[in-house]
Amino acid sequence: MPFSQHLDLKRVELAHRRTKIVATVGPVSSAPAVLDRLIAAGVDVFRLNFSHGTHAEHRRARLAIRAAARRAGRYVGVFADLCGPKIRVGSFEGGGIDLEKGQSVVVTSRTVRGRAGLVPSQYRRIHEDVSAGDPILLDDGNLMLRVEAVRGRDITCTVIDGGRLTDRKGVNLPHSHVSTPTLTRTDRDDARFAIALGIDYLALSFVRTAKCVTSLRRLIAREGANTHIIAKIEKPQALGHIEEILDAADAIMVARGDLGVEMPVEEVPLIQSELVRLAIEAGRPVIMATQMLESMIENARPTRAEVTDVATAAQCGADAVMLSAETAVGAHPVAAVETMDRVLRLIEGYQWKHDQFAKLVQHDELADPESGAPLSLPEALSRATSLLSRGLAVRAIVVPTNSGRTALWVSSERPAAPVFCFSDKHEVLRRATLWWGVSPHRASRTLLRDPPALARWAIREMTLADAGQTALLVWDTSPDSDGSQRGASVVTG
Ligand code: PEP
Repeated sequence: MPFSQHLDLKRVELAHRRTKIVATVGPVSSAPAVLDRLIAAGVDVFRLNFSHGTHAEHRRARLAIRAAARRAGRYVGVFADLCGPKIRVGSFEGGGIDLEKGQSVVVTSRTVRGRAGLVPSQYRRIHEDVSAGDPILLDDGNLMLRVEAVRGRDITCTVIDGGRLTDRKGVNLPHSHVSTPTLTRTDRDDARFAIALGIDYLALSFVRTAKCVTSLRRLIAREGANTHIIAKIEKPQALGHIEEILDAADAIMVARGDLGVEMPVEEVPLIQSELVRLAIEAGRPVIMATQMLESMIENARPTRAEVTDVATAAQCGADAVMLSAETAVGAHPVAAVETMDRVLRLIEGYQWKHDQFAKLVQHDELADPESGAPLSLPEALSRATSLLSRGLAVRAIVVPTNSGRTALWVSSERPAAPVFCFSDKHEVLRRATLWWGVSPHRASRTLLRDPPALARWAIREMTLADAGQTALLVWDTSPDSDGSQRGASVVTG
């Protein structure tokens, strides 16, 4: 095929964008009129960042999002991002100090005001967690110190990379074992508050092992809730435990901000694509986060590299891409979402046209020939659904679901057609807003009890397929079960 034809980008425009957009709510985006515009521009999920803002502000934002989603007639998800044990410097006389390369400075856990040569740490045990030779990174890694000696609460350091250090900037200790628990007391209070607000996911920062996830899971259970957990992957230790973390969590986020400080920055591209691959394989949604359209915090147009970054996330198969400061405090929040939407739609049209969705999933084999273990029924059916979606060029996959799991399995196989997920549970449908290619819709209990009738109704009322076109219906034969007696069927119609 000639290059010009191969690259005919305008030929396919998918009606349903597959990769979801997450936008962080902040001062520039919490007003009802802006939320309306953000949803219209394509936001699927909002993030409430508990590193900033008060409970009262988060409550107002949650209510405003719910009202805006109602006005738009769409399901919109919300997650609370817990701050975690983020270490910060204290404050300085005059608001900041200059660090010169080669200079000797003292980092201290004593309660003091910072001044030239003295950097206070808000983390009270920093002197216990570092040793001579360790790096201390400041301000997202823009500044670097090397530990020379620890005496009592004072850590003597040499400045390796200098610059200006201002109040409350972040501290990273990539080589040190930080002794604070992942779920801090503040996080526990914030998590209880967010659960009571009825948010859909809790994102847990600085996850190191599966135990971090299970301790949050216990808290959620004690609150009598079933809030799903997004494990933020931003510590080197998490990479060594990634399989168990994927097993314990409901979704992951590639939190490239801290990850790129804690790890050599050149490793981030490989780590992010491996994390997406592993998450898809494990059937866990994955969000690509941080600095995706960073320059749009100020500028109306993104850099070419940023556009490529968004496209790359879609080409890796991420479930969602996230905007942080761009929509929280930026000058162009709506334009940032519109840009993401346009980039994703164009890439996905190309992927669809060249049958690349299925290639986003890498399966080693159909069953383990050594152990003779067959695939699980959901796995086999999801793979078959994806295969049929391509082989039959289907227009839609209709999935009535109770817990949402059937829709998530099908999504994890990255089928060629959009997945229309039907449930009578608002919380399931809001959760599904994060999943690749899944479009959530409410259906009555009566229709849900009769999946073929539901499919016929949806095809007719929502014009999912025209006469002569094919749709697939995939359903759990025990929709009232908790999933323990799961079965499924695939039909064409
Ligand atoms: C990140 O570090 O990339 C991230 C998303 O976390 P936060 O914004 O909480 O620093």
